[in-house]
This record gives sequence, structure tokens and C-alpha cells, in this order.
Amino acid sequence: MDLLNTLVEKGLRRETPSREEALAVLATSDDELLDVVAAAGKVRRAWFGRRVKLNYLVNLKSGLCPEDCSYCSQRLGSKSGILKYTWLKPEQAAAAAGAGVAGGAKRVCLVASGRGPTDRDVDRVSQTIAAIKEEHQDVEICACLGLLSDGQAERLKGAGANAYNHNLNTSEATYGDITTTHTYADRVSTVQQAQAAGMSACSGLIAGMGESDEDLVDVVFSLRELDPDSVPVNFLIPIEGTPLAGDWNLTPQRCLRILAMVRFVCPDVEVRLAGGREIHLRTLQPLALNLANSIFLGDYLTTEGQSGKDDLAMIADAGFEVEGTDTTTLPAHRADAAAAAGAGCGGHGGEGGGCGPCGDAAPVDAAPVDAVPADAVPAQAAAGATVSAPAGTRESHAGLVAVRRRGAGTDLPPNA
Ligand code: SF4
Repeated sequence: MDLLNTLVEKGLRRETPSREEALAVLATSDDELLDVVAAAGKVRRAWFGRRVKLNYLVNLKSGLCPEDCSYCSQRLGSKSGILKYTWLKPEQAAAAAGAGVAGGAKRVCLVASGRGPTDRDVDRVSQTIAAIKEEHQDVEICACLGLLSDGQAERLKGAGANAYNHNLNTSEATYGDITTTHTYADRVSTVQQAQAAGMSACSGLIAGMGESDEDLVDVVFSLRELDPDSVPVNFLIPIEGTPLAGDWNLTPQRCLRILAMVRFVCPDVEVRLAGGREIHLRTLQPLALNLANSIFLGDYLTTEGQSGKDDLAMIADAGFEVEGTDTTTLPAHRADAAAAAGAGCGGHGGEGGGCGPCGDAAPVDAAPVDAVPADAVPAQAAAGATVSAPAGTRESHAGLVAVRRRGAGTDLPPNA
């Protein structure tokens, strides 16, 4: 397939595909799906080998957010029945983080609900970072605290935060449909503040919120331009009590096409398989490891993931290996650029809640070269693609989403 050969060659050169090529990946048929995964898998292995980085989420403060992000169970007026608690003490957060590290995580993502931190909140998070690093010197810390005010990124960097997560979530054109209390530009600004302060930026998307193929390509191209080191790809977890609770728009095949498109557009970036992988990819989860080089271990912010033990078994069974702390995640050209900039991820974009400019660096181990959302059917049909069986309904997916009742904020041990 000429399209796939072209995309592999571009991925190995870190060259941006055209919008038409990215859209064509999303419009491929089920007959072509394994070829798509194999092609994007070549790009993934060229830059990241068979390594899988594990990240662990610690929800420092849950629920009671004044913002109205329609996908989020922590939003203003949420009726989701999630755990609600205020700031964990540093030692409580460190204990939760320690469970993730013991499970194999090399990055801990410290997330707090809210529009953004106060300066006092930054103090709290700084103390938490110190408590975690006292026990685990090598662990990477990513903070995800919402919109940042002047000087806060620098303070977090000074406290030891290696990275900052803030997702774009969806295209600029549709942003106002999912959130009205802040803007897409606010989000871009916070990612840029984190980068300017020397932190590694983590910024991604949520698929499955009724967006079109064009919207998905828009947000991924915007991410490439913003150039985060890590791009979490969340698949909407339609949590009861949120406005999007009935949005079961994704199929496993659609999720794989989205991940492949992200890999082709952001070839040398840490593409992270984030929230919603269990409920949308289901038995096809292991195939996604050929596309993403990073996942969250265990539970998400307010919902439960599969057991950490099952995550590790899945990685081993699929022939991949957990990335150790002695290995640098990013390819040398990106890691060197980050080091020169002084840089060393999570939830204000779904439940798990960091593309690069072209250059001349070579891949490390050179490799050669459904249900479709209702509003995407016309695009796929127009492209001549095979349209899979319907994604499903709220009723057919009843029981797939479990609200988190263990770990941070409870007396029960965390899932890691
Ligand atoms: S995504 Fe973040 S800002 Fe939006 S409602 Fe949820 S916690 Fe609040």
C-alpha cells in the first residue's frame, strides 16, 4: 500500500505527513487494519524499540472542580459518585507513588482537580515532590495541576518537577463544545509556560467525544506544532453522571487507527496509551503496544483500570519489555534537546491524563522502511472504507466503567 510505505518513510525521517495522509489512515478499512498497525509499528520500533514506559497516576485532590469540562467526572455539579477529597498529605501521596514505582513505573503523575493551582497549592505539590524524591531519587515527576499563572511553572521546575501535563484534548474548532469555562488558547499557553520553564511538556487528546476525523487530525497537527515530548491518547471514558455518559462512539479498530495516525504524525514522541484503553480496545489492547510506547499502570484518576499485574502480563505476552530507569525514554536527538533546554503526565484531559520538528537524526535501530462515530460515517463511507459493526450503546456497555474505590483517598491499597 503506497500510503503506508510513504508514511513509514516519513516517520523514519521525522517528516510531517500531509493532512490528507493522516485522514487516509483514519479512513482505512478493517481489511487493511493489521497492515496499518504493522506500518506504524515499524516507526514505533525505530524510535523506541520494544520498550514500554510505565506511568503511575496519583490523584492528589479529587472532585469539586469549578470548571465544566463535559468529559470529566470531577466537574462542577458532577453526579458521578466518584471519590471526593481534598489535598493528600505529602506522605500519603508519597506512599501511593511508591506503590506505582514498586510496580515498575518510572514516572509518577501528580494530578489535582481545579482550574489551576494557587501559590499555596504549588507549595503543597513542591513538598509532595520532595517527599517522593526522598524515597525514589530516579523517578520522573510530572505535575498536572491545570492552568498555570505567572511564575508557577518556574517554581514547580525548581521543586523538582521534570514534566508538566496539560492536554489540548480536542480541536480548537470544537473546544467550546466540551468546555466553556476556559479556552483552547488558555491550554496552549500553559503548555508553552511549562516548556519555557524548562519542563518536559506532556500534552495529548481525548478521542470519542463526537469529533470528526478532521478534528482529530487538527488536534494532532496542533500537538506536533506545540512539540510536547509526550502525547497521551485518551479514549473517552463515558462516566455516568457526566454529560458525555452516553457517548460510546469508539470501536477497538477505530482506536487502533487513531493511535497509528498519532504515531505517524508524531513519530519520535512518547505516545502514551492513556485512559479508556481497557473499555474501548478491550481484547485488542496488546496490539496497541505496537503503536504506543508508554501506558499508565493500574488505575486512573476516578475510575479503575485493569490490575497492574495484568498490565505487566500483557506487555510480556505481547513481546515487549518494561522500560527501566537506566534507559532514556526519548530518542537521543530529543533527549539532548530537552537537556539543553533544562527539561528533565495525567488528568486535566480525561482520565489519564507528552511531536517534534523534522530533522536529520537517524532512528536508533533503523527499521526499513466498529463502530464508527455517527458523525464519522459519512467521511469513511465517502472514502470507500468498510464500516464496522456499531460501537454500542450505553446499555450494551453497562458495567465496563468502574468508579475508583481504592488507592489514593481511601484506606485500601492502590492498584499497581
Ligand atoms: S478536566 Fe480538570 S479543569 Fe476540567 S473539570 Fe476536570 S478537573 Fe476540572
